[in-house]
Amino acid sequence: MTDLLIHDSAARTKRRFVPIDPSHVRMYVCGPTVYDLAHLGNARPVVVFDVLARLLRRLYPKVTYVRNITDVDDKINARSRESGETIGAITARTTEDFHRDMAALNALPPDVEPRATGHIHEMIALIERLIANGHAYAADGHVLFSVPSFADYGKLSGRTPDELLAGARVDVAPYKRDAGDFVLWKPSDDATPGWDSPWGRGRPGWHIECSAMSWKHLGEEFDIHGGGHDLIFPHHENEVAQSVCAFPGHHFAHYWMHNGMLLVDGEKMSKSLGNFRTVRDILAEGPWAGEAFRLLLLRTHYRQALDFTVEALREAKAELDDHYAMLSRAPAAPGGPAVEQLAGWAIAPLLDDLNTPLALARLRDLRTLENAVTVGGSPAVAMERAGLTTPPAPGVAATAFREVASVLGVATGDPSVWLQGDAGEAGAVEAAIAARLAARKDRNWAEADRIRDELKAQGILLEDGPGGTTWRRA
Ligand SMILES: [Zn+2]
Repeated sequence: MTDLLIHDSAARTKRRFVPIDPSHVRMYVCGPTVYDLAHLGNARPVVVFDVLARLLRRLYPKVTYVRNITDVDDKINARSRESGETIGAITARTTEDFHRDMAALNALPPDVEPRATGHIHEMIALIERLIANGHAYAADGHVLFSVPSFADYGKLSGRTPDELLAGARVDVAPYKRDAGDFVLWKPSDDATPGWDSPWGRGRPGWHIECSAMSWKHLGEEFDIHGGGHDLIFPHHENEVAQSVCAFPGHHFAHYWMHNGMLLVDGEKMSKSLGNFRTVRDILAEGPWAGEAFRLLLLRTHYRQALDFTVEALREAKAELDDHYAMLSRAPAAPGGPAVEQLAGWAIAPLLDDLNTPLALARLRDLRTLENAVTVGGSPAVAMERAGLTTPPAPGVAATAFREVASVLGVATGDPSVWLQGDAGEAGAVEAAIAARLAARKDRNWAEADRIRDELKAQGILLEDGPGGTTWRRA
């Protein structure tokens, strides 16, 4: 098997991936803080690390991929105060929205999805260890991590002490011994969520949540830690400090992977610029949009900045149209050495630090090879790139294509459904509404509810009015 190379942010270079335990690879990726709909930038790490998880599952017998839900955070508390909606309702609804949106991007659920509120006990245990080891102190109902107590602080982000202070936008609270010290635990008033602790009723800081959840589900050290580039400092720097100081002699994450930022129309996304887009906004473009957005994300290498434009989304859709047209015509072919050789060739770029643009180019070559035997066209260039001297037999390139597509998570749907497009979906919804109406006439309420719930699971809401039933996308 070819080696897997990973760009390790901590080493600032590509390193050969050597798992701690080759029979069980373990990966942690920071998940969403659930107070609002996922925006386009939130989707990028989900899709990037979904491809990595799919690749790792192909290479190793067992993979545990953990991605958390941050459901205790001051942003959530602030949203609840503004809107009057309870914290529980906000986090439950937003988590459900997140799951639905990420499923529409063909992202598989992680193996474990821990919630911060379910791990308060582990957070308190970690903080107690840090105090016992001389790396944290309680003051004024707060517990703070003592940055000067950890000599390697700043190593992951490569920042100097001055840059660290500037980047942290530190407020110099009187209870801090050092301006760079960060909060592990803080007091809660009666109106704010809180848990009993040795330091009084309070709540955790954000950074300790990830150290506690990765410890609980992956152990003191594990293979890969991922997230967006913007999390390196202070979030990941602080995770390292907490976990290494709580468990001396352990290295926490052996490889750090960070995806680049996402721009919209060449600019950083912001509400004031009017270029702020949620994943839900994109999905409203049509039933094709989730998969097209995923393809768009993978057309840029994960470490580079990515520029989202509507034209790029349309281009991605056109590419999927061509893929599905080929798949709808391709004859079935059994696996075998010819398929394995082509699939291995197209997957190989993923082993080089997840080079998805090159893997997608090879996927297009596989399409060209298949099309050459079904609808014509010259396969010469694609053959040369794939190292073939004779064209593959009918169905061979398409079978290899399906194998590669399943690792990338694109063009994995039913070609006939894709090619029907919006019209096909609308027809299916109308048929379901008619079936529900028939069930209601028969007083078969269970069946009527089942149809409504099935549509709801697909993101389609029914509204019963005096003029009949209408539907809309949620
Ligand atoms: Zn985290």
